[in-house]
Amino acid sequence: MKNFRLLSIFLFFSSITLAQSKKELISILNNRVDSLNQIVASERSDKQKLNTEISNLKSQIKELERNKENLSNDKSTLETKNNTLNKQLKIKQDSLLLVITELLKYRHAYNKKLVVKQDNSGLIKTVTIGTQVWMLENLNVSTFKNGVAIPEVQDKDAWNKASKNHQPAWCYYDNDPKNGAKYGKLYNWYAVIDTSGLCPQGWHVPSDADWEILITYLGGKDVAGAKMKAKSGWNKWVEQNEITCPVCNLWSDEYRSKIACHRCKDNRTIPNVIIYHSGDGNNISGLASLPGGIRLNNGYCSYIGEDGYWWSSTENNNFDVWYRYLYNDSELAYRFNDSKGCGISVRCLRD
Ligand SMILES: [Zn+2]
Repeated sequence: MKNFRLLSIFLFFSSITLAQSKKELISILNNRVDSLNQIVASERSDKQKLNTEISNLKSQIKELERNKENLSNDKSTLETKNNTLNKQLKIKQDSLLLVITELLKYRHAYNKKLVVKQDNSGLIKTVTIGTQVWMLENLNVSTFKNGVAIPEVQDKDAWNKASKNHQPAWCYYDNDPKNGAKYGKLYNWYAVIDTSGLCPQGWHVPSDADWEILITYLGGKDVAGAKMKAKSGWNKWVEQNEITCPVCNLWSDEYRSKIACHRCKDNRTIPNVIIYHSGDGNNISGLASLPGGIRLNNGYCSYIGEDGYWWSSTENNNFDVWYRYLYNDSELAYRFNDSKGCGISVRCLRD
């Protein structure tokens, strides 16, 4: 009996302990279920987010594909336009080339028809150009046809005085006889029209009309200069880029050597591009004209190597006379009038 009681007490306490551990287990399991549910819920929401992102990406891809299609359409339109423009350009280039070829042929044929004949056999070298016979060199005499001396005038003031007094005068450029050997003498116009006669027997200073005949024969003033100029002896001419400030557009040549713009202080360096061009002609005329320069009324000499000037016998008015001139930087044959007191080259024409 006693044992039974003890047993029942033991069982009682054991059952309490068992019941307690069961409860704990259930609670643990419940907690576990809760946390699993949370995980499932969060994964579900993640999955939803992913699905949303995927659908966004899909629509973006669709958009991109549409853009791509548009771009490829644009590209093909542009390509078609480009092809059309290239075709048009090619046609224009071809027709331009034809025109240039024809023009060159015409020029060549024109130049070939020119009658030009040099004769170096006599005392006076000559060149026949069409109907005219010209001296091959600038005049270099110091006496008139009748043997009377033409005064050489070296001094600047004396040169100016000769002009004022309407007296004939000659000089070498810079009074240097070496220039005479190459370019002949410079004469004022009072020497040209002196009744003693400047040119040798059988020759005369060409009139403005004589010059016009020559230049017309050579194809007109726009091309005659190159044909009149010698193939060598003319200074090169320099072409420089125009320097303007890239910011204010106001920089000019005088600032070529400076670094910063005087106006806006922009200080980038602007490249100084210099191109040298030949100043020589093609001498198709056979005249072999050289740049002898000019002596002005005031007695100063200028432009040797760059410009050549030749008198005509034709007055423009009481003060000025027509002459022709050539520049090293031009193919043109120019016509201008200036004071009778200038010292200019003379090229004689056969009577
Ligand atoms: Zn500037």
